Amino acid sequence: MAEALSLPTDFSFNQSNLESYLACKRQFQLRYVRKLVWPAQTTSDTKRFEADRQAGIRFHLLIHQYFLGVKLERLLEVAQNDPDERVNSWFDGFLAQFHEGLTGHCLPEFTLVASVAGHALTAKYDLLRWTGEEVVIYDWKTSFLPVPLDREKIKVRLNARMQSKVLPLVAWLTRWPDGEQNLERKITLSYWEARDPGNPIFLPYDAQSAVLDGQVIQNLIREITTTPLEQFFQTNDERKCLHCTYRSYCQRGIRAGDYNEVDTEGMPFTEDLWTQAESELLSEEL
Ligand code: SF4
Repeated sequence: MAEALSLPTDFSFNQSNLESYLACKRQFQLRYVRKLVWPAQTTSDTKRFEADRQAGIRFHLLIHQYFLGVKLERLLEVAQNDPDERVNSWFDGFLAQFHEGLTGHCLPEFTLVASVAGHALTAKYDLLRWTGEEVVIYDWKTSFLPVPLDREKIKVRLNARMQSKVLPLVAWLTRWPDGEQNLERKITLSYWEARDPGNPIFLPYDAQSAVLDGQVIQNLIREITTTPLEQFFQTNDERKCLHCTYRSYCQRGIRAGDYNEVDTEGMPFTEDLWTQAESELLSEEL
């Protein structure tokens, strides 16, 4: 009988590993089961990619510190002295939108875990704000390509992302400290783009979304955990290999794809190019 996938006992599903499985089953197996670290460029323009990624990380850190209560004067000083002037302008845009504007409990860089299909499903939030009536999930984005103008198209693309399913579903399944379940509580996922600070995208979430997403994720988890090991095939879509670090391992080419051509069908957010999982793999290795 074919051997099924054996995940570590502490394995938790999340938006990154589910997205990876959907993109390429082999990538999921190499990255999350074998934990293979394969040093390769993510894009051909490493310098620009790294500068964008680091700027995004520093910006997220500033916002985290803001919600932790670090003095605003100090944060402004840090932003103004950042080596990348975009960080200061992103932080100005953030303050114009959010300074003293959020009510309720604000939980920055917060993690929640729910149980789906007998497995842990983890959601990491940039900011989770909850009140008696609503839960709002904020996701800060720093895109490196021009922000598309067609907002309806953006919404459709964002809605299709695993992130837009995992984050609200886990919040939906959570029992909040006031003991209330979310049946009556309104949940909204808000994507806030630093380069377009006045136009956040709001994706409302309700019981019907939770049922549909719950089913999709349950089915995916069941499929992953029952697929025989030898059936974690390479993707047929070789465009996905262009920005995958296992390219040479899989004999799908040596040269990394162009930075400007990353996932042009999706929303090109810099921080998504280097997933949490890859960072964890590397830090384990070092
Ligand atoms: S290089 Fe291509 S086939 Fe290999 S793991 Fe990456 S996406 Fe999959």
